[in-house]
Amino acid sequence: MLIDTHCHLDFPEFDADRGEVLKRAADAGVKYVINIGSSLQGSINSVKLAKDYPNVFAVVGCHPHDSRDFSEQDIETVRSLAGFEKVVAIGEIGLDYYRNLSPQEDQKRIFVSFLRLARELNLPVVIHSREARDDTLRIMREENVKKAIIHCFGGDQIFLKECIDRGYLISFTCNVTYKKAGNIRDAVKAAPLEMICLETDAPYLSPEGYRGKRNDPSFVRILAQEISRIKGLSIEEISRLTTQNAREFFGLKLDEP
Ligand SMILES: [Zn+2]
Repeated sequence: MLIDTHCHLDFPEFDADRGEVLKRAADAGVKYVINIGSSLQGSINSVKLAKDYPNVFAVVGCHPHDSRDFSEQDIETVRSLAGFEKVVAIGEIGLDYYRNLSPQEDQKRIFVSFLRLARELNLPVVIHSREARDDTLRIMREENVKKAIIHCFGGDQIFLKECIDRGYLISFTCNVTYKKAGNIRDAVKAAPLEMICLETDAPYLSPEGYRGKRNDPSFVRILAQEISRIKGLSIEEISRLTTQNAREFFGLKLDEP
């Protein structure tokens, strides 16, 4: 069994066939998915998905891209959403200095507010960090963050080492399969297996061979295959360990033993 720990099935790309996509994922062994809210509306929709589908969990928060328009009142709305029992973390939150779609000051302010909310609610955090390693690590240290997962990990070895030292989990997407992703495969090699989770970030980042098409949670299987090749372990072992990691980190209540 596999778990897609980060996808966006609330996006309009899935409006026509959401139920089918989840069924196909389950048939491929991806029995559970964690849907990530990337905006206020996305968080509301994530919770709705978790209510509608037994095998979907929700994460609520605000992507750094949307920080500009996020108010303190919106944070209160997220706080009330987080009270639903299938909400398993706060995210995705963080900093994105690659695209800078919101001013960096807004990004930092909202990031700190959410880290404090997560601590208050005793929930882990799902972190998005792009071209913003130093500020991400500094703020997380200042806010004394203990339980975090770094989503869509790139190939930054300095970032990797610091995250591992702090006990943050590392989440890899299907971009591990890309021809030019040698640095990300090196990160897979270096990361201890008991700290790795698997995700698609669907609809984005389809695996090699499907690029330009919509990604979906069933492709976690392709990612697991690639991780198994890099680590030199069977896909069963990779599935077992990464599922266990996700289960413990998010405190998932699953039907399986
Ligand atoms: Zn995402």
